[in-house]
Amino acid sequence: MLSADFLHLEKDVELVNRHADLFHLDIMDGTFVPNISFGFPVVEAIARQAAKPLDVHLMIVHPEKYVERFAKAGAGLISFHYEAALEESEAIIAQIQQLGVKAGIVINPDCPVQSIFPYLDKVDFVLLMSVFAGFGGQKFIPESLERIREVRNRLDRLGRMDVPIEVDGGIGPENAHEVKNAGASILVAGSAVFKAPDPAAAIAAMR
Ligand code: ZN
Repeated sequence: MLSADFLHLEKDVELVNRHADLFHLDIMDGTFVPNISFGFPVVEAIARQAAKPLDVHLMIVHPEKYVERFAKAGAGLISFHYEAALEESEAIIAQIQQLGVKAGIVINPDCPVQSIFPYLDKVDFVLLMSVFAGFGGQKFIPESLERIREVRNRLDRLGRMDVPIEVDGGIGPENAHEVKNAGASILVAGSAVFKAPDPAAAIAAMR
């Protein structure tokens, strides 16, 4: 939704309701990432009109301070960055799950995938960044494909075939098949949808 038209948000919420599976909401604090996006009033407004789950991606320091408010604002899934949580990651996963929300752990492209292996038996999903968190409209980093395969293999070996890998950044109709074939099943697309001449056709092309 970072690429949506905020002056006509209802139109873009309806587009997602009709054609996509999730609302992916990038929350940026200006500290964990250099950019600031939007906060609770926007999330709550989207929640009022959303017919699909809200997938809240926290790019913030101290995610544990805010997960409860995002759950109350209507999040169905909440992910936080391992780099912002480190040894607190296990406690934050439990905190999110106790709120009845699906918990995901996220890493940036420069964070070794092995860093999150200790949490793969606890999370409900994994979010792998295929660009550096903080801005929309970046180009997909090709090395992300190998990282998806590594995490997928590890999850499968743990018997967690049902845990989806979500991939975020630079995804559109031209590379969605590669991302899927590497083992991802939730693809985040911002610019590729909202900046397309026909956003519904862009989603259909990715499917
Ligand atoms: Zn995101």
